[in-house]
Amino acid sequence: MPWSLRLGSIGGTAILIHVTFLLFLIWLGVVYWRAGGPEAALQGTIFIVLLFLCVLLHELGHVFAARYYGVKTRDVTLWPFGGIASMEEMPERPGQELVVAIAGPAVNVAIAAALLLWLGPRLDPETLARIDDPAISLAAKVAGANIMLVLFNMIPAFPMDGGRVLRALLAMWMGNARATELAATIGQGFAILFGVLGILYNPMLIIIAAFIFLAASGEAAQAQLRAVAQGTLVSDAMITEFQSLGTSATVNDAADALIRTTQTEFPIVDGAGRLRGVLTRDAMIKALKERGPDTPVLEVMQADIPTVPARAKLDRAVRSLMEKRRPVVGVTDGEGRLVGLLTVENLGEMMMIKSARPDASAGPWGSARR
Ligand SMILES: [Zn+2]
Repeated sequence: MPWSLRLGSIGGTAILIHVTFLLFLIWLGVVYWRAGGPEAALQGTIFIVLLFLCVLLHELGHVFAARYYGVKTRDVTLWPFGGIASMEEMPERPGQELVVAIAGPAVNVAIAAALLLWLGPRLDPETLARIDDPAISLAAKVAGANIMLVLFNMIPAFPMDGGRVLRALLAMWMGNARATELAATIGQGFAILFGVLGILYNPMLIIIAAFIFLAASGEAAQAQLRAVAQGTLVSDAMITEFQSLGTSATVNDAADALIRTTQTEFPIVDGAGRLRGVLTRDAMIKALKERGPDTPVLEVMQADIPTVPARAKLDRAVRSLMEKRRPVVGVTDGEGRLVGLLTVENLGEMMMIKSARPDASAGPWGSARR
């Protein structure tokens, strides 16, 4: 991930820290210095390090819960108000997803509870909300910060943990696809509510609202795609009627093909039927303008296109489409020859068809009820 620094690794999971987290630390440091001089700044730094530890422990809660179900985590990136653990895949079973999602906030609940117990009657509840005030004891501040972490993360909207908890709970009685849809709608409802509250009280909330709203739509689309892709083979979803270009084709030939067909991405296939690359419409137009119509397509195509076997599961193809951020994935037969293409658009069409069929969103519980 760009703009991240690597701190080390724990049990095969790299620990990264995002630049905005550092900026947040600097901001708090400055606030402390201006309020109480170097002494307060030192106190503040200690608090910041402890806060950082709590965020890290929160993420490790997710990581170890996921590992219990056999899901590995490549890295954990720390942001000012939480971390993002990039797991290889989320467990698909609602019960497992629930445990993994809740394991993070549970760590902060445990830390806050332990500190509150220790502070006992000395604690004035009002101080918990004032973490940028240097006059408050360190333990109370750390407890307050953990409570804030829990509240923020349990907002029932993607990509917050609360959104996943909500989705998992819904999925227990209505199936994955419908649960995702409903959870995303509820999340966007919360985002709108936050936006309104933000206009009335605190502009910070507007930024959070916009973030939740965008993330909820993206997450919902991806989760729905995964739900549809499960149990489907690549060969059931791929495009089989398409125009390809030979290795000796020019940008002019590609432009002709663009006009003749409805395709916007053209595979370049060599004599042996192997995929050499893909020329997109945008790259084609750019090449036409900057380098002329006689430019060989081999020079302007995108070469590193992932391929999947036609017999592979569709979720694998979806993952490489999402992760590698390529316009298409090539589909090959047993001999490595190109036999099909998968694009984001045709996966979208696949989703529309599946959800239009009456039994589309029936999970194990949904079908029993019909
Ligand atoms: Zn979390």
